[in-house]
Amino acid sequence: MSTTNLKHHPSLAQSPDKAGVRALAWRKGMQFDHQSDIIIVGFGGAGASAAIEARRLGCSVIVLEKLACGGGNTAVSAGNFIIPSDAQKAFEYLSKTFEMGSSEMDEEAVRHFCKEAAATKEFFAELDPNIELEVAGHANFPHLPHAEVITKYHVKGPKTGGINLFMTLKKWVEKLQAQVLYETPAMELVVKDNAVVGVLARQHEKEILIKANKGVILCTGGYECDAQALDEYCQASRVLSLGTPANTGDGLRMAQTVNAGLWHMRAYSCPLGMQVPGLNSALPFLPMTPGYIWINKFGKRFANEADVDFHSCLYSVNNFDPVAHCYPAIPCWAVFDEAARLAGSLTHQRFGYGAVIEGYAWSADCSREIEAGVVKKAETLEELARIIGVDRSSLCASVKRWNDAVEKGCDEEFGRRMQKPLSEKDSLAGLTPRRLSAPISKPPFYAVELYPALLNTQGGPRRNEFAQVLDRAGHPIERLYAAGELGSLWGTVYQGSSNVAECLAYGRIAARHAAELPEWVES
Ligand SMILES: Cc1cc2nc3c(=O)[nH]c(=O)nc-3n(C[C@H](O)[C@H](O)[C@H](O)COP(=O)(O)OP(=O)(O)OC[C@H]3O[C@@H](n4cnc5c(N)ncnc54)[C@H](O)[C@@H]3O)c2cc1C
Repeated sequence: MSTTNLKHHPSLAQSPDKAGVRALAWRKGMQFDHQSDIIIVGFGGAGASAAIEARRLGCSVIVLEKLACGGGNTAVSAGNFIIPSDAQKAFEYLSKTFEMGSSEMDEEAVRHFCKEAAATKEFFAELDPNIELEVAGHANFPHLPHAEVITKYHVKGPKTGGINLFMTLKKWVEKLQAQVLYETPAMELVVKDNAVVGVLARQHEKEILIKANKGVILCTGGYECDAQALDEYCQASRVLSLGTPANTGDGLRMAQTVNAGLWHMRAYSCPLGMQVPGLNSALPFLPMTPGYIWINKFGKRFANEADVDFHSCLYSVNNFDPVAHCYPAIPCWAVFDEAARLAGSLTHQRFGYGAVIEGYAWSADCSREIEAGVVKKAETLEELARIIGVDRSSLCASVKRWNDAVEKGCDEEFGRRMQKPLSEKDSLAGLTPRRLSAPISKPPFYAVELYPALLNTQGGPRRNEFAQVLDRAGHPIERLYAAGELGSLWGTVYQGSSNVAECLAYGRIAARHAAELPEWVES
């Protein structure tokens, strides 16, 4: 059973019932406590960008946010977003990623994304020409045609990561006077005939009804912390989250109550992560050194640890073994030696809820985590095998095979590269190649337990190029929109930094379409 500890989260403790288990039918004479042209549910990147666009178009806006402060996963993310330099070429590049993963692609929706994302620099410049964007990287799949048009950016600011982006957006949401109701989770959509005309929310133990004159935009993020949805849509036996514990699939369920079709439910962006007792979120496994291997319950290596796409690690552990009847690699272990321990922390402080919000700092030499029993220590590999409960001879043989491979310079088992080839530019600059492999030979030996730990889910309500939520027959559900990670465009193969880009682009697209609707009048 997938679980995430939500018990200690004060704002969540106020919501004993699950949001989105039913829709509320509109009745004549229904008394609304508030009204606005557009209701936005969720104040992360998508909600903020929708609110800014809606206000710029002159619509009144109420944003409902479950927690006492906004930000969601956007604020704890690395904060990188792609801005294509050519929308048509970016479309061709991104189309290939769908082909690679055999994922469903809505051509028009991806085209609209490319066009809108290409205008993200203008979006920021129009808000404030002093907002600085910095290049953060390039295409994840440089071998694909037109990869050169993909550049990753982030907003420059006093901190690192997505907090700079979110604080910039929040400032503009406030300046433009969109009303944000904090600690006010949306619970149910209000429905008249086939249209969504409002939201029932909970505020300080009381229910409030809010009327949407034009539309409702769901921006509640993913279902990283909903045990039930993960059990249903993610095959893995246990999956943790690196993000906010508030993303419990509320928007997914709300959309289902009005018959939304779903898509991309098997697509995840998910590295491996570690658990520290007392934290509400996992920490990403990002060791400073290549001197480690992953081993499964049988004490065996099972993957090319260094080359696996960071966003796709779930797919390398998510295998049910039909002979042994178990998931051999959930959890798995990273095994390393004294040289690796002394090389530095196994994670970093730049992103993730555990570091950014809960303030956890992993010790540079793992001493704090060894003391806490998170990192297991043993003088010999045999002893380590006993402590972590794997077969002794398998573990010793796996480490020996790995050390032989490093010595030979060739990993025949999984093809892990020994070093990262240098680009022409780096070799001209005289840089030395980064090592991707190192032996595990200097005692004591160590192991840390790893689980798949979600950056984000991609699945949710299917939507079209105007961000309208579609029903199971593919028709727009009147006045209902979704933006951001909830029902993301992206499939199994994921071009990094496209989720935040999608929040920025589809928040604006949704607001623009909703703003054009005639007001709904009670009759
Ligand atoms: C550690 C980490 C690093 C990442 N780095 C990157 C990156 O660099 N680039 C990238 O593209 N992607 C990245 N991602 C993914 C990306 O951050 C998310 O996909 C994206 O920010 C989601 O934005 P959103 O607005 O859709 O949702 P969120 O930002 O998660 O916001 C959702 C909001 O909805 C609120 N909410 C939930 N339910 C309710 C309810 N019932 N009522 C009211 N409010 C509700 C939540 O409290 C939250 O504030 C990263 C994710 C993580 C966890």
